[in-house]
Amino acid sequence: MLYSVDKKGFYGDFGGAFIPEMLYANIEELKNKYLEIIDEPDFQAEMNHLLKDYVGRPSPLYYAKRLSQHFNARIYLKREDLNHTGAHKINNTIGQILLAQRLGKTRIIAETGAGQHGVATATVCALMGLECIVYMGEVDIARQAPNVSRMKMLGAKVVPATSGSKTLKDATNEAIRDWINNPTDTHYIIGSVVGPHPYPDMVARFQAVISEEMKWQLKEQTGSQDPDIIIACVGGGSNAAGAFYHYLDSEKVRLVAVEAAGLGVDSGESAATSVLGTKGIIHGSRTLLMQTEDGQIIEPYSISAGLDYPGIGPLHSHLIVSKRAEAISITDQEALDAAFLVTRLEGIIPALESAHAFAAMHYLKYRSEDVIVINLSGRGDKDLSTYIKILES
Ligand SMILES: *Cc1c(COP(=O)(O)O)cnc(C)c1O
Repeated sequence: MLYSVDKKGFYGDFGGAFIPEMLYANIEELKNKYLEIIDEPDFQAEMNHLLKDYVGRPSPLYYAKRLSQHFNARIYLKREDLNHTGAHKINNTIGQILLAQRLGKTRIIAETGAGQHGVATATVCALMGLECIVYMGEVDIARQAPNVSRMKMLGAKVVPATSGSKTLKDATNEAIRDWINNPTDTHYIIGSVVGPHPYPDMVARFQAVISEEMKWQLKEQTGSQDPDIIIACVGGGSNAAGAFYHYLDSEKVRLVAVEAAGLGVDSGESAATSVLGTKGIIHGSRTLLMQTEDGQIIEPYSISAGLDYPGIGPLHSHLIVSKRAEAISITDQEALDAAFLVTRLEGIIPALESAHAFAAMHYLKYRSEDVIVINLSGRGDKDLSTYIKILES
């Protein structure tokens, strides 16, 4: 495995566990136990049962006929939007809650930006009867009110992060602070392939079910388990990691990571980390991130809250720097146009994040016979207020 994590938690130059000493015991415990726990037959059985009967897996692989005609290619959609709670995030929270139980943890904390990971975490905490505290930027609480209500109805306590820009990175800082103060009874469910080792690898493994299913679904529908191209949007990179996972070493399969350019890569209002980022440390791992020359984090911007993060996971930094993956940046406007195109051609309203992946078709070089899988990471219900503004303008 050329692209899997090494013993120290690195993907090439990226990754590691750069953490305050106070977190050392927690991270060590997780690092020493996660693989063993995940491999237990009892864990596997419970995880598979919940993924099937609770989440609704396998998610369909759908041949998008009209979209294929439009772009003159063979386009398949991996329908993570049909999962319980509306996105891929539940795959990871199911895995981590089962892990937390086996570690004897009774209190769960999480960070959230748009609220999708917060909802997925509050959901599994309700399912298992565990206490749930979700940190969320004050600004995000105001702009994502429906998800805040969902989390509260599910029994979670939503705590506002009031420092910095009062958005996702500040919520993450608050969650880390909480964990430092509550090291024994608490598990921190990180929502993407970011954070200190072993989180990026652990979350990638829980999302890997996406490409595991893709293999047999493609074999059934096209005769080959390998597509020519896989496209996924990247915020932290968990849905992309899941869609790429079982193809990382199949060099013939092109991997395309799509980032949010916001108002444009050079506009100063962007989240295109692979273009604008440099090597640095954020939230416990060394990765590409948007920072000033003296290492202050530059506030990212995207219309899509799920892509509005100043870094990307260390796996993706490695894939992009080593040229295993191609990176494409998509502006707010291009994503909005793609969301309407997919809706009108296929009757599927995609999440704004996923719409970025569709828009990448305009920049991609491909042949008409190419089999292209687009990972449809989530549904657009949460983005309706943004879409409605466009319809009414
Ligand atoms: C959170 C989210 C993303 C971005 O997160 P990744 O970890 O990069 O996958 C993408 N799409 C949807 C629908 C999301 O909710």
